[in-house]
Amino acid sequence: MSRKLLTMRAIMSLAAGVLCASIAFGAAPLSDQAALEHRFDALIHPDELRDWMKQLTSQPNHVGSPHDKANADQILAWFKDWGWDANIETFWILYPTPISETLELVSPKPFKATLQEPPIPGDSSATATDPALPAYVVYQGDGDVTAGLIYVNYGMQDDYKTLERMGVSVKGKIAIARYGSGWRGLKPKLAQDHGAIGCIIYSDPEGDGYSVDQTYPDGPMRPPRGVQRGSVADMPLYPGDPLTPGIGATKDAKRLKISEAPTILKIPVLPISYADAQIFLEALGGHVAPSSWRGALPITYHVGPGPAVVHLAVKSDWSIKPIYDVIAMLPGSIYPDQWVVRGNHHDGWVFGASDPMSGQVALLAEAKALGALVHQGWRPKRTIVYTSWDAEEPMLVGSTEWVETHASELKQKMVLYINSDGNERGFLGVGGSHDFQHLVNEVAADVIDPETGVPIGQRLRAEMRIAALEPDAKPHAKDEAKAAADPDQDFPIEALGSGSDYSAFIAHLGVPALDLGFGAEGEAGGVYHSRYDTFEHHTRFVDPGFVYDALLAKTAGRLVIRVADADVPVQRATGFAATVADYLDQVKKLADDKRDEAENQAKLLHDRAFQLAADPTKSSGLPTTLDRVPHVEFAALDDAVDRLKRSAKAYDDALAKNAAHLSGARLARLQSLMLDIDQTLAPDVGLPGRPWYKNLIYAPGRYTGYGAKTLPGVREAIEDRRWPDANRYAKLTANALNAYSDRLDKATAVLKGT
Ligand SMILES: [Zn+2]
Repeated sequence: MSRKLLTMRAIMSLAAGVLCASIAFGAAPLSDQAALEHRFDALIHPDELRDWMKQLTSQPNHVGSPHDKANADQILAWFKDWGWDANIETFWILYPTPISETLELVSPKPFKATLQEPPIPGDSSATATDPALPAYVVYQGDGDVTAGLIYVNYGMQDDYKTLERMGVSVKGKIAIARYGSGWRGLKPKLAQDHGAIGCIIYSDPEGDGYSVDQTYPDGPMRPPRGVQRGSVADMPLYPGDPLTPGIGATKDAKRLKISEAPTILKIPVLPISYADAQIFLEALGGHVAPSSWRGALPITYHVGPGPAVVHLAVKSDWSIKPIYDVIAMLPGSIYPDQWVVRGNHHDGWVFGASDPMSGQVALLAEAKALGALVHQGWRPKRTIVYTSWDAEEPMLVGSTEWVETHASELKQKMVLYINSDGNERGFLGVGGSHDFQHLVNEVAADVIDPETGVPIGQRLRAEMRIAALEPDAKPHAKDEAKAAADPDQDFPIEALGSGSDYSAFIAHLGVPALDLGFGAEGEAGGVYHSRYDTFEHHTRFVDPGFVYDALLAKTAGRLVIRVADADVPVQRATGFAATVADYLDQVKKLADDKRDEAENQAKLLHDRAFQLAADPTKSSGLPTTLDRVPHVEFAALDDAVDRLKRSAKAYDDALAKNAAHLSGARLARLQSLMLDIDQTLAPDVGLPGRPWYKNLIYAPGRYTGYGAKTLPGVREAIEDRRWPDANRYAKLTANALNAYSDRLDKATAVLKGT
């Protein structure tokens, strides 16, 4: 999964970094640390990454395929060869696969959609002997429906407001939405919520086709018959196996009935290519689509209704299937019960070269190098756990089931989870827990970008400063650029929403997580989740020479080594505090904006402005009336953020001054206070209406999907106009931040010896 790297900066909100006290890392002299890391680098060979990718992507490797199982067995064998204590952990999950799919235009003129991705000569898509699954979306609801078609643009909340103003409804209709703007699964979910009985999702060439660049095989972008597969489970409710929310999908687990599983859609859904979509869209009449709704097809985009009538039918095999997580350990020599966990998934939609094998081969390179360092006599102080997840694509299933199965042990032992997924040539992209932002900055200062010869952090800072010059740059990008221009400040990392295997760690357990990868220069987006995400495409257009896949190994490997060997806690609190303060400012502004919006709408309705501005020859409608916005009770949250800023500064100052001189008992006390401090941010109450998500600082948006919502209990309550929830979660979030500050204050006292 994970198309996040290219878009995360645009989607997410966060603060500028702040000045951090810089202290020498750990007790070992820097030269020893640097020497160890140089030895690690020397063990990373791009040619090996290439060979592994070629083997792992030689046949389709979707969940349940013979090659996915063979890959898990192969990865297990490699870990063992490299000196790791490794095993495969099997889970049993609901994994529907299509038996039959039909999509046809019934009128005005009959047309049967091809639903096929033809092989491309010279490409793995033409040489595979194992069958690929037909293009489909997993966890849609089977059905056989015939109805009129309505074009809903991206199919997101704002698009339904526009439809309302046009006087057009999808009730009893089949919606056709284009990919983009928000997460895939929200499109059929919102269509279903608005009364649609079926949904089609297509890839418009404006998003990732010929409008962007030449199409594959001439260039990197989506060819006319390329289809984006994916999950449409209601992930913002909970990810993982739909039948076992909150518990591991072990063989004997108590399961929901399929009909009771709330994350499975009720309506049939199919993804299609733009070659197929053009015929359906051309058949639509009714309103001409608003200008921002028009894609790059050579047609006049209409919304409907009429005259297009569509027949859509999907039938699936709803059996339980095994999945295979590979789990490997190197035991810690001093703190064996403190774990650094690193992961990347190994299942793909078809061949999965860029997604996920580019990240998987980086992880393998790290594992081989770490094994070799151990063979040479190095012993990590903490236990290192490497994980190769299965079933990420259907909805983070392998990682989620492992986390749910081992939740209490992981909450006791985990220091940090470090994730990667698809990787490309380009700039470092990082999201995660902001108390680890300084660690990321330290590592990014020591890894050299192969294209420019400067540290990857310096290159990222340059990119942030230039991005802020774009005419449509958001205030957020300008804040980032300001921080990036100041070498005394850390460059900011992003907030994590969802879209890859970090989710269960950070959002459910509250364990801190980082997600990293390179991107924005290589171009994997055009073959994303299609049959054309192949070894040939990756080596031609995404990372020729496996230079950046190897660089990912050097970057992630350094994070692992530094956290595993650190003598003092690696977190810094001031960056986190400043980030949370910025989130609170955003949420308060949001409440004010909502108030202005409601007042303005009341005036417009009073003045009959909507009716007077509408074209009387076309259908139109009035917007749903907005209720008056009360003042949210922010005082407790204001106090908590002020206190967090003071406690954070005191902690970071005390750490800079005293960390190097701590004795055994005080050091142990400090470590135990900081080991699980992030879990104070994820109290058991969970988010309103979706208690699986426990982190009150970071969550995937209920209506953005992958995109993060920060301070989500409060922010989403304001967005959705749930005023009692807004007040309640302002207090709950304040309590969580106060618990974090309490912990910091105790750690500061230990550092000061008071
Ligand atoms: Zn992926």
